[in-house]
Amino acid sequence: MTTTDTSIAAAEAHSAHNYHPLPVVVATAEGAWMTDVEGRRYLDMLAGYSALNFGHGNRRLLDAARAQLDRVTLTSRAFHHDRFADFCTQLAELCGMEMVLPMNTGAEAVETAVKTARKWGYKVKGVPDGRAKIVVADGNFHGRTTTIISFSTDQEARADFGPYTPGFEIVPYGDLAAIEAAVDEHTVAVLLEPIQGEAGVLVPPPGYLAGVRALTRERNVLFIADEIQSGLGRTGRTFACEHEDVVPDMYVLGKALGGGVVPVSAVVSSAAVLGVYRPGEHGSTFGGNPLACAVALEVIAMLRTGEYQQRATELGDHLHHELGLLTGSGPVAAVRGRGLWAGIDIAPGHGTGREVSERLMDRRVLVKDTHGSTIRLAPPLVISKEDLDWGLEQLRAVLAG
Ligand code: PLP
Repeated sequence: MTTTDTSIAAAEAHSAHNYHPLPVVVATAEGAWMTDVEGRRYLDMLAGYSALNFGHGNRRLLDAARAQLDRVTLTSRAFHHDRFADFCTQLAELCGMEMVLPMNTGAEAVETAVKTARKWGYKVKGVPDGRAKIVVADGNFHGRTTTIISFSTDQEARADFGPYTPGFEIVPYGDLAAIEAAVDEHTVAVLLEPIQGEAGVLVPPPGYLAGVRALTRERNVLFIADEIQSGLGRTGRTFACEHEDVVPDMYVLGKALGGGVVPVSAVVSSAAVLGVYRPGEHGSTFGGNPLACAVALEVIAMLRTGEYQQRATELGDHLHHELGLLTGSGPVAAVRGRGLWAGIDIAPGHGTGREVSERLMDRRVLVKDTHGSTIRLAPPLVISKEDLDWGLEQLRAVLAG
């Protein structure tokens, strides 16, 4: 029989140690709750880093997946399939854009955005070959490929993986003047998370995104918004950029686009930008496959109702009100976030983020630490107010020691 201990020991022995999971072995899940191999129930306050915005085992998503499983799951892009056009049309429409380039994981979509911006730079903007520059922010998290970690400022993520891909300039996050100074005639794009998730749910100063939008438009530079974690309802809007009435040139989407059922990611942009591709220049065997499109179409339909954005706003206001009461004195040094998304800095002397996460696990609430002293809350948007309150009660108890 699989137990927590045997399962963790086997995983330790036979899997690379590139993660440090909490010692819980999940067997089943539904809505905002997960059950481990020994039958203990836990409230999921992480939601697969926002991939599970619609909850575990969401009926609509599972029905869409099951129906598609019985029809066709993979064609590769060598042939057309009958869900592809609907997926691209409807995702473009949701984004207020014209074209979609589907991939699978978030990192692949970011890579696609980087390649697209470079190609646009050479073919449309007229940047000399090999000179394209992309401006990024420090503290960013855009994924794990060799190019992406080349412009990470997190030593853990990048050390020992060089040589690094050139062509990126890193500026402080939230500093518009620094972007302005970095943009030159070879700059093809500014790539940002509208709210930095992995960095601890860092919300930039008011006016920053709007300032980046104005600057990039003026300087003929693409504004790429990585909304892989912030997008698709999490912050109370379909896109976090909407909080500043900003429409970027390119959205990079992933995580919740596949509803936590299948990996689905995409770059969504104008015909002027994504129109730069010709057959053979980019692709992915699984990108835009029928199963992915079927699930993502249901995700898009759910987002179109506005219901999940509304929930994230209402429950998010409640969450931030409650967290605000804990902030400033005692164990909580700071709270940041927007919608149903919060980064909580634990004050010195009250335990590391890891320790707080472990104590929460003992009380049957699952969260994950980031950067030493921060924990991140991102429950599924379908969580009930009662469950959210229960989770907060456990958090208060843990922080009270
Ligand atoms: N971009 C952002 C903003 C993310 O938060 C993540 C994952 O956490 C990624 C990109 C990478 O996505 P994936 O893990 O699917 O490659």
